[in-house]
Amino acid sequence: MFDDLDPEGLYPPVPAPDELTRFFWEGVLEHRLLILRCNDCGFYVHWPRQACPNCLSFSLAPAEVSGQATLVTWTFPSQPFDAYYRSHIPYALAVVELVEQPGLKMVTDLVDYDKEALRIDMPVHVVFREVAPGVTLPLFAPAPSGA
Ligand SMILES: [Zn+2]
Repeated sequence: MFDDLDPEGLYPPVPAPDELTRFFWEGVLEHRLLILRCNDCGFYVHWPRQACPNCLSFSLAPAEVSGQATLVTWTFPSQPFDAYYRSHIPYALAVVELVEQPGLKMVTDLVDYDKEALRIDMPVHVVFREVAPGVTLPLFAPAPSGA
């Protein structure tokens, strides 16, 4: 669904990076998945926050992760409010858990999947797709079988 830029020229809701989230979107533009990590206890923190929820340290820095994850859950929204997403039905809205840490979850969309093959805990990996001119998002695709 996201493989081609939208023929109707619709834009998805675009990221609005701020001081706390800019590193994430700059990483995405370089096709790197950066997750905030605590300098004191090593805990990964996503979504970005100013303090580590594990040890309350304010010393956090972006760290590149592997992009490997497992599928936690997914759905096929039938009534999205946004016109861009309405024009892309069916699409798979998903939650994935990054392999770096139990409970380190991201909300994303799935791409390049076989609907009938989706399973909880199946391995997935990040792919970076330009979903509209100048708008790249980190999406997830099933990992090659045997991986
Ligand atoms: Zn910490």
